[in-house]
Amino acid sequence: MASKLMVGNWKMHGSLAANASLLSEILSGMGGVNCRAALCVPSPYLTQAQSLLAGSALALGAQDVSDHESGAYTGEVSAAMLRDFAVRYCLVGHSERRQYHGETDAVVAIKAQRALSVGITPIVCVGERLAEREAGLTEAVVKRQLAAVIHANGHCISEIVVAYEPVWAIGTGLTATPEQAQGVHAVLRTQLQAATAQAERVSILYGGSMNAANASSLLAQPDVDGGLIGGASLKATDFLSMLKAASR
Ligand code: PEP
Repeated sequence: MASKLMVGNWKMHGSLAANASLLSEILSGMGGVNCRAALCVPSPYLTQAQSLLAGSALALGAQDVSDHESGAYTGEVSAAMLRDFAVRYCLVGHSERRQYHGETDAVVAIKAQRALSVGITPIVCVGERLAEREAGLTEAVVKRQLAAVIHANGHCISEIVVAYEPVWAIGTGLTATPEQAQGVHAVLRTQLQAATAQAERVSILYGGSMNAANASSLLAQPDVDGGLIGGASLKATDFLSMLKAASR
């Protein structure tokens, strides 16, 4: 299995000055980090991050991509545009996009396809809401979300990354227990194995209030291949501590 993959999601946070200082602090503390790592920054800061991360062990990521290739889609950013900035990873189907922008499973699947078509690795986010968990629907929901992406991407499916992010744990301070995370990751792994002979190439990340205190126990689970980290990726010491936990 490849090394763990730790991805920060800055969401809509940052400024030129704040980014410069955060990246400088992170980059100066990377000694001893040997996991894979990336930061998904807001689009206006791709140029800045591309230049500050150049030659470092931190890859550049975006937070979304248009489901269209090009054209009259005001405000959208295409996969080819992201590629121009050496973007390596792109989140697709983050629950905040599904919730506030009405992204359906079908749209998320096309977004993954757009990213793959230009050589960007889509990080496909799946996860159930609290009411769905309480109704015993967790497995059905994440399988439905991933099935749409498998269906649209066929033989390329081994090139994606999956992030299991229970919606009730994102930004709430509530975290899935390591056992809850492992249970869902195992379901997703089995689904990928049924879709491709190369399922072991797919990293399955956990996201949802992962922090410096809980990262090690989550990352110790056999099917947790890394983390997708929101709030705690905005604090250099916390993010570095998680990168080090993933490097053991
Ligand atoms: C996220 O934004 O994907 C996320 C997991 O956020 P947080 O770590 O803040 O819960």
